[in-house]
Amino acid sequence: MTTILPGQTIGIIGGGQLGRMMALSAKEAGFRIAVLDPAEDSPTGQVADVKIIAPYDDEEALNRLAEVSDVITFEFENIDYEGLKRLTEKAYVPQGAEIIRITQDRIAEKAAIRDAGAPVAPYVEAQTFAELQERIGEVGFPCVVKTARGGYDGKGQVILKEESELAGAEELFAHSACVAEKFIPFQMEISVIIQRGTNGESRCLPVQENIHKNHILHETIVPARVSDATAEAAITAAGQIADHLDLIGTLAVEMFVLEDGSILINELAPRPHNSGHYSIEACTISQFGQHIRAICGWPLRTPELHRPAVMVNLLGQHVAPVLDAIPVQPDWSIHLYGKAEAKHNRKMGHVTILAEDNEDTLRRIEESGIWR
Ligand code: AMP
Repeated sequence: MTTILPGQTIGIIGGGQLGRMMALSAKEAGFRIAVLDPAEDSPTGQVADVKIIAPYDDEEALNRLAEVSDVITFEFENIDYEGLKRLTEKAYVPQGAEIIRITQDRIAEKAAIRDAGAPVAPYVEAQTFAELQERIGEVGFPCVVKTARGGYDGKGQVILKEESELAGAEELFAHSACVAEKFIPFQMEISVIIQRGTNGESRCLPVQENIHKNHILHETIVPARVSDATAEAAITAAGQIADHLDLIGTLAVEMFVLEDGSILINELAPRPHNSGHYSIEACTISQFGQHIRAICGWPLRTPELHRPAVMVNLLGQHVAPVLDAIPVQPDWSIHLYGKAEAKHNRKMGHVTILAEDNEDTLRRIEESGIWR
């Protein structure tokens, strides 16, 4: 088992905010950071020791990252699988490439979740629109058709209320094969972030409740307002999936909670997740610190919640009003990711608020008027 120590270099593929927060956490312990990203001034590049500016699938750039890094991780799943697989042969990539192959394709991902013994919504897969037309009866309407590859934040999916709307899904096949799944009238969305070390031991952050607006995460509330039985089922399912995938590092498991308290797994992300950002202030170990421990072969710590927490995302349109609120909101921990342009709906940062009463925090967020 390889142990990576402070002074050694962690290479990160991808220079966004997740890489930045991984890097900041690793630098606290004295690691050095190398990052590969096409942007000159990426959020991670701003805090890294070594910047390699090139496309993610540039073989020569990956080789350079391998040369300067003692361990390599990634901050997003849409990287070139074949390139990553070759990289695992010349560099230490403890998470491996297989988890990327699976999670960048909804068809492979759903099969893996099912094979792990965890519950998913009824679905069919279709390589072509004709196949979808043929098989859609197996799930019925309403349903959600999603591209197998490349979708995020609600992009690459359509909801079909009834059969007459089926033609609306045809254009999705221009991108990739698709899955059609039953529309789930869920009560709540939750997520579990599970992290597993090179010794096979895993730890979960507390179960998170997630509120989306326009398919983008808006708020995360911890603890989630679910029964103990639901929280337990969620953690059990995350454990089954992590073991089945031989996880090393981080896996975020997004789930629906139904009216009867049962859960269905929606999707997986093999990296720290927006719904875990609250852990920086609210837990005894953050998802970023734990990720670094996991890939560096350190024993994992059991995350405990210091206080109830709410995280609210800052999109482009929220940045200016939040900066204006700094003088009157001493309890808001403000995180900005160093992105130059505050475009509408672009994730620019987040705010975390710890308080004994999350209902009170949610009311204050609403009253601030910033997120209306
Ligand atoms: P996804 O890209 O799969 O995470 O989907 C984005 C969002 O669409 C989810 O967070 C849900 O709010 C909604 N959604 C996705 N799949 C379904 C479904 N089968 N039934 C109802 N809502 C869904």
